[in-house]
Amino acid sequence: MEFQVSARKWRPQKFSELIGQEHIVRTLHNAIEMDRVAHAYLFSGTRGVGTTTTARLLAKALNCEQGPTPEPCDQCNFCKEIRDGISVDVMEIDGASNNGVGEVRDLIENIQYSTSACRFKVYIIDEVHMLSKNAFNALLKTLEEPPPKVVFIFATTELTKIPETILSRCQCFEFKPLTLQQIIDQLKAICEHDGIQIDPHNLEEIAKNGAGSMRDAQSLLDQVIAFCGKEIDPGAVEAVLGIVGQNALANFVDSVMQRDAAGLLQQVSEVVAHGKDLGYFCRDLIEYLRNLMLVKVAGNAESLLSGQTAHLDTLKKQAASFEPDELQQMFQVLSKAEMEMKRSSLPQILFEMAVLRLTDVRPLQEIDALIDKINSMEGPSTTGGGTPQPARGEAPPVKKAPPAPAQSAPKRQDPVEPVDPPNVPGDRRQESTVNEICSGASPVPPSSGGEAPQLNSNQANVPEDRRQASTVNKLPSSSEAWQKIRSAAGAIKRPLGTYLDNCQLTALDAKEMRLSFPDPYTMGLVEKEENFEALKEAVAEVCGKPELKITLQLGTTTAAPATDTPAPPEPEQPKGKGSAKRGSATEEEILKDALDVFGGIVIR
Ligand SMILES: [Zn+2]
Repeated sequence: MEFQVSARKWRPQKFSELIGQEHIVRTLHNAIEMDRVAHAYLFSGTRGVGTTTTARLLAKALNCEQGPTPEPCDQCNFCKEIRDGISVDVMEIDGASNNGVGEVRDLIENIQYSTSACRFKVYIIDEVHMLSKNAFNALLKTLEEPPPKVVFIFATTELTKIPETILSRCQCFEFKPLTLQQIIDQLKAICEHDGIQIDPHNLEEIAKNGAGSMRDAQSLLDQVIAFCGKEIDPGAVEAVLGIVGQNALANFVDSVMQRDAAGLLQQVSEVVAHGKDLGYFCRDLIEYLRNLMLVKVAGNAESLLSGQTAHLDTLKKQAASFEPDELQQMFQVLSKAEMEMKRSSLPQILFEMAVLRLTDVRPLQEIDALIDKINSMEGPSTTGGGTPQPARGEAPPVKKAPPAPAQSAPKRQDPVEPVDPPNVPGDRRQESTVNEICSGASPVPPSSGGEAPQLNSNQANVPEDRRQASTVNKLPSSSEAWQKIRSAAGAIKRPLGTYLDNCQLTALDAKEMRLSFPDPYTMGLVEKEENFEALKEAVAEVCGKPELKITLQLGTTTAAPATDTPAPPEPEQPKGKGSAKRGSATEEEILKDALDVFGGIVIR
């Protein structure tokens, strides 16, 4: 007997044999039974889901000797002729090659003649979306009011290309893609019938590659049978389909788990060496990750995997080693690579880079936990020299610096050279000390330098009322007060806190607070009435002095000249250098701290 490909041999000959389109079968069934058959139908759906087959079945149902009946006999002459495609009254026209207006005119002319033997004249136009615009227009009038006993059935894989005017004249049916299980069942039936020995897992692979199209899956099965004969071995399926098997995928994911970059690259090169398509491999990996995710998060993964239970144990074992967000990250890396590989002339390199990125994936951490961790690190790092914040230009160590040696504090703190205080009058000394603490390089109190610890010793020389005032001001240290002001301002008006992070406190005493901004934009934001009011409110709240004058100015404080200071310029030079050096050292330390907390690698 002459060989017929599976797709033709197993083409459904009855509505009951049609797989996966129950909604359409039922509608047509009822229409035929109730004698309410329309004169134009449009069947749309992806390739190989049964549009043309259904059109032929409908033609048979209408013209069967026993009919019109929803269950044509398939034995009478009409049924046989239609099945073999030789009926003169059922014309199957290929829209792709008969797409001109001339062909449509011929068809319309023919339509006027009555049927030769059948009950209905049926015109099946396949791939109807290929008709030209003029051809569609030529068809409109006939389609709206065809002669009696004429039925048009259009089939298309691209519904969006059909003009609205045609759609409105037809009954439209959308065919669903077939599920994996439906395809597997059908392939299994074919294999059992033909005595083909095939592993269920291989059937699954073939069905999967059909991508919802029964015809594609059946063609692939034919191809595999032609390659192997009656007994099909797993390697042959992979070779014919050009895919990488589940075992290889599982091994690959194992290597990702072990962060074995060399092993992964080796596996990629093997895939290429075996002539497999890297795009398919990437796609299969993405699907494998999806399965891992299902197993990880879904209780009933077996049913969601739609029959792919052969590797369930492996999947479960591997899924236990990944966090869901890791799988998400890997999925994103591979999805991006898959898209880019299609456009790239170097798909292998792209894929290799993506694979290497997989080894860097780490689980995300809760932001709250990270903040807690950073907070817990803050203490030791400030006293230990590696402070994460000095770049902002303030002097946080002051409040936590031990009061003991005056020499150690200035080094970590600010570039002001301590000048001998005894020559300065007591009140002057007091004022300057407060300002020094605020900014270190304050231009306002040029005369003396001082440190937090020295405040105490100085205060011994300060008159009693001055000391009292300082206590009333509640300014144990200006930087501390400034920090409180910022957080209070942030609490009153959230963005304000951020704006203030960008400026520097240059002076803070009982009468005035002076802020220096690096750019006019930020200053403008703080100057806005509602922000300025919020700032005033925060200052009043922290210092208890609502009348305190607030001055905003542009420029950095480090360049400000000391007007009447006796301090010589020489000591400032080494200080400046020192601070620059310290700045870069701190950057490294910040990076190191960040790596400790977040993990990861430095890319450049
Ligand atoms: Zn029949």
